[in-house]
Amino acid sequence: MQRFQQTLAARVDLEDEGVFSGQRVRVVLEPADTDTGVVFVREDLPGAPRIELRPENVLGTEGATVLSDGRHSVYMVEHLLSALHGLGIDNVVVRVWGPEIPLFDGSAEVFVREILSCGLRLQPALKRFVEIRRSFEVRNGVGRLLFRPAGELRVSVRIAFDHPLIGEQEITLRVDPVSYQREISFARTFGFKEDLLRRREKGLLKGGSLSNAIVLDEKDVLNGSLRRADEFVRHKALDLVGDLFVTGWPLKGEVRAELSGHKLHIEAVKSLLSAPEAVRFSDGLPAVALFFLTPPRARVASPRC
Ligand SMILES: [Zn+2]
Repeated sequence: MQRFQQTLAARVDLEDEGVFSGQRVRVVLEPADTDTGVVFVREDLPGAPRIELRPENVLGTEGATVLSDGRHSVYMVEHLLSALHGLGIDNVVVRVWGPEIPLFDGSAEVFVREILSCGLRLQPALKRFVEIRRSFEVRNGVGRLLFRPAGELRVSVRIAFDHPLIGEQEITLRVDPVSYQREISFARTFGFKEDLLRRREKGLLKGGSLSNAIVLDEKDVLNGSLRRADEFVRHKALDLVGDLFVTGWPLKGEVRAELSGHKLHIEAVKSLLSAPEAVRFSDGLPAVALFFLTPPRARVASPRC
């Protein structure tokens, strides 16, 4: 397991249309010092307000995860947070010129590809973790999240939709940078045509197109083919990995999610954190180990970064 904190080796610059606002939104990911955590900056607003990734600044809605300090917000942060958590990135500044993170193709693939093509840099400070110390369960209606102690992050997700292409799907995964890229980073979000039309009529979706998600009617996919037959549950695992990162510290433990969504994920993580006997905030190793371990050199960034 990675022992040292990690940041980006170089700046990553991205841009696309936001699905809520319909505006072009630029996002720049910048390397940050040790112990910075994840900080968002609304560059389009006067004074460029900063919003830190902390549980009290995160809201889970039915359709998205929102970062907000009560005055300023950034919508749709979940897929970017998932990529950061999945790749083991601890310190980054996210500069955003707009109210939301663009959806791109509806997965985390663009973030992963662009971040890795610019490289990662290990930093001379031990990685910090939120460790689950005892079993903890949160239920809400039919949804359920169960947290258990484990030496690494493991997720297990079950979904059930009354649709011929989805039905019941389940995935269990030990999350590390390799398994994250290979098993879930490419999985796109999905929506039903009727829902999308309704939200568009209400003005809730000003942008977005068939390239931002898997769109389904009662029987089939309306825009191309699936990347895997169980892409739906893989996307739910991608969402969960993002929502488990609301502390900005990686999680060490096993999380089972059943019939859940962003709202329950965020509620459950907040409940877990407020139960002091259930979690511990810790460094990966005793501080004395720093004297005996030397961080490896940074991986080489590609010339275009
Ligand atoms: Zn999602």
